[in-house]
Amino acid sequence: MRSRATRLVTAPSANEAAATSESTASQQVSRRTAPSPDMPNRDGTRVIAVEEHIATEAFLRIAHGLDVVPGDETEMGLMRTVENSPDLRTRLVDLDARLREMDALGQDMAVLSLNPPGVQPYPAADAVPLAREFNDALAAIVRRRPGRFGGLATVAPQDPVAAAAEVERAMGPLGLHGIMINSHTGGRYLDEPEFAPLLAAAEANRAPIYLHPRAPSMLAAYREYGMPFAMWGYQAEAGLHAMRLILSGTLDRYPGLTIVLGHLGEGIPYWLRRIDNRHAFTARTGGAAMSMPRLALTPSEYFRRNFVITTSGIDDPDVLELALRAVGADAIMFAIDAPYEDPVAAMAFLRETPLTDDQRAAISHRTAERVFTVAEADV
Ligand code: MN
Repeated sequence: MRSRATRLVTAPSANEAAATSESTASQQVSRRTAPSPDMPNRDGTRVIAVEEHIATEAFLRIAHGLDVVPGDETEMGLMRTVENSPDLRTRLVDLDARLREMDALGQDMAVLSLNPPGVQPYPAADAVPLAREFNDALAAIVRRRPGRFGGLATVAPQDPVAAAAEVERAMGPLGLHGIMINSHTGGRYLDEPEFAPLLAAAEANRAPIYLHPRAPSMLAAYREYGMPFAMWGYQAEAGLHAMRLILSGTLDRYPGLTIVLGHLGEGIPYWLRRIDNRHAFTARTGGAAMSMPRLALTPSEYFRRNFVITTSGIDDPDVLELALRAVGADAIMFAIDAPYEDPVAAMAFLRETPLTDDQRAAISHRTAERVFTVAEADV
């Protein structure tokens, strides 16, 4: 089991943070020419983006013919429209075009994952074989271009035992780098006892779990004003799921789990001090009545021990600075969220946002190499 116990508080000191903001004007921004497909740049600014979505025509053909489980109709109506729009469909399935785009951007590597919410809206009997077929295809893509593509396997939490077996297959024979789970599955969350086999397999096989957003399980209050999706519902849902993992004691049972959150931590870095505060207060005043398990650590200690966050969809220097103070650059990874966010803007953000050289190296590639076990020898 990979122990992360030694990575305690990695946030920079106040002095380092101040030095960072003062060095903005003189920051040496490395600018690179596009590397050839097999010879990415080795000047220390290797760029790995870790939330990059794809699909295969075979997957879309089968998935779009399936009934979705009750409650997921609204979300899947939108996602199928997205997946059927010619431009986005091409961007999801055409990996030669993806490589050309990566070359033009100077992006060395993309850690690929199935377009959300993956197989989770389907009955288990459909979802389990669909996940296996997609993971076979993903592994073939990664094997063809090991220096350019990594892969996060898809699993069907609907069948936790099958999902556990798929984690083992993904991290073993398929040679993938982790798994992606798109938040709730039929309104169920990973802290619930039925998912124990899946979490045990992720821990035992050192599979980081990218806990990706999807539309909230309790849709009613989000229905109007476009809120179920990326503007607000996604981060509310994924943040809720992460808090359930922390507060339930799940991370005492599986201390070696690594959970990856997009959107620079789905709001949690902003709330961290208050969460600790109010957790202590609530546990003291009414914990027993509110079924609050006694935890070995404070919520922020779990966040710093077990979570790694990515920049997907938040090209905002102020939010990044807050995240750096909360968790440090060794817990932050670059992500674009292809094909949904502007890759040019994301790359410009990575290169130009005020950072020390060491922070930029960590966010660009070093944290991803550690978390997803992407060997430098892959380059
Ligand atoms: Mn995404």
